[in-house]
Amino acid sequence: MGRPLQPLLPKEKRFLEEGRYGDNVIIASVDTILNWARLSSIWPMTFGLACCAIEMMAVGASKYDLDRFGAGVFRPSPRQTDLMIVAGTVTIKMAERVKRLYEQMPEPKYVMSMGSCATCGGPYWKHGYHVLKGVDQIVPVDIYVPGCPPRPEALIDGLLKLQEKIRRESLLRRKFEEKVA
Ligand code: SF4
Repeated sequence: MGRPLQPLLPKEKRFLEEGRYGDNVIIASVDTILNWARLSSIWPMTFGLACCAIEMMAVGASKYDLDRFGAGVFRPSPRQTDLMIVAGTVTIKMAERVKRLYEQMPEPKYVMSMGSCATCGGPYWKHGYHVLKGVDQIVPVDIYVPGCPPRPEALIDGLLKLQEKIRRESLLRRKFEEKVA
């Protein structure tokens, strides 16, 4: 014997009587479903440049459990990633490599600038002749995470902001606009 069924609420009764919905109907736009799938499975690149990368590694450890957000799988190849976290000082020598890694990532792709070095040169801002004063000079940045270094919680907050951004996107509209342009 199964559990006795709960009596239907008046609203549920009305829906059944009117036959408006079947047993299992989900109504959503294609964009909503695609975006939900993408934001729930962000794959960051295994890639770090300086001390900020240590904090990024801490975020990947069990205490912070990035898998809660679907972003715990750091991939070793740019061709399998959709998020580049620029964690650390971008030297002029390294800038060209960072740009090449970005170009090797498939679309749609995102960049997070982690820490003040990646965002504006950090402590090297004035006298660091060898340091790029912001990674946004070579790749488009979607999210900036402030701090020197940012705490793991700050990186998680940046990830949540990125998820919000993805939630609001329309891949279909983007494709259409690319075709028209
Ligand atoms: S922002 Fe601070 S902690 Fe991060 S790489 Fe630069 S100096 Fe290191």
